[in-house]
Amino acid sequence: ELKGQDHIVRALRTSVAEGREGQAYLFSGPRGTGKTTTARIMAKVLNCSDPVDGEPCCECESCLSVEAGTSYDVHELDAASNNGVDAMRDLIEKASLGTPGRHKVYILDEVHMLSKGAEAALLKTLEEPPPHVVFVLATTDPQKMSDTIRSRTQHLQFHLLAPDTLEQHVRWVAEDAGLTVTDEAIEQVVAQGAGSPRDTLSFLELASNSGGGAAEVIALDDFVESMIDHDPGRALKMVAHAISRGRDPRTVTEELIGFLRNGFLSLMAPDLVQLPSQRIDALTDLAQRLGAAGLVRGIETLGEALTEMRQAPDPRVLLDVATVQLTSEQVGAADIAGLVARIQKLER
Ligand SMILES: [Zn+2]
Repeated sequence: ELKGQDHIVRALRTSVAEGREGQAYLFSGPRGTGKTTTARIMAKVLNCSDPVDGEPCCECESCLSVEAGTSYDVHELDAASNNGVDAMRDLIEKASLGTPGRHKVYILDEVHMLSKGAEAALLKTLEEPPPHVVFVLATTDPQKMSDTIRSRTQHLQFHLLAPDTLEQHVRWVAEDAGLTVTDEAIEQVVAQGAGSPRDTLSFLELASNSGGGAAEVIALDDFVESMIDHDPGRALKMVAHAISRGRDPRTVTEELIGFLRNGFLSLMAPDLVQLPSQRIDALTDLAQRLGAAGLVRGIETLGEALTEMRQAPDPRVLLDVATVQLTSEQVGAADIAGLVARIQKLER
């Protein structure tokens, strides 16, 4: 099933129901928003023996084989791992061997990764596609694709989902699968998933596997409180506690950056905050008390630490240093961003 993306569902359902489906589509959008899922649903309905209003029956032999990944009518190529001209020629050769009356659907994932040669071969086929063949090109990076390829396709753009839509979806999945998860855990997986249904469901699975309660990597609100109070000791203890429970310093850093970013957005553009609505008031309060300059400084300092962690033998040291920089008043006076944050606080 596809969650959200109503504009896409409407367009595809109508064109399939009326037999006007295109031969080449470009699906673009962030990871985990339903691009290949939609391509597979297309493949199902185009070959279904009993489709209803542009929807597959999900019971016939063809639908079941697409579902099981054993259908001869659906071919997937991951251009990220298979980007050469040989793989593309092979695919095109198979595409030209049509099975009359059937639709063959070719799904090319991460299509912006194709080599120049493979792209040229694909373009030639898109100019004159064999009848009954439908190409679905999926990409997270449509601007990396050549204009000529784009102009040969119908471009449909997938979007991230709003937190409230995701929350509803998570609750439905949890109930349908008989998972016991707390409200806090649901709130947390929605925040972690950041608008991607697939990522959100992986976090739901993790939460459910670890007992169904919230497993916050680090107490985010408390960390920001310690930035407001200039209390490095308290912040360092929180970091130590998270790491003693087996958290990776990088994950802790990413989590903190995500939270500060949401705080920043709550001041500048509240519509963009990726949190369930009932949590937004508390976040906005924290963000106002820390101030925009403090939030930006936090994001920058932790972002730099995260970059340096890639080469660091002990990433934890970098997280500790960043933590002290963000919470200690003295160190904060040594850089301009820190001074601005202090002035803002005084002005308030
Ligand atoms: Zn069917």
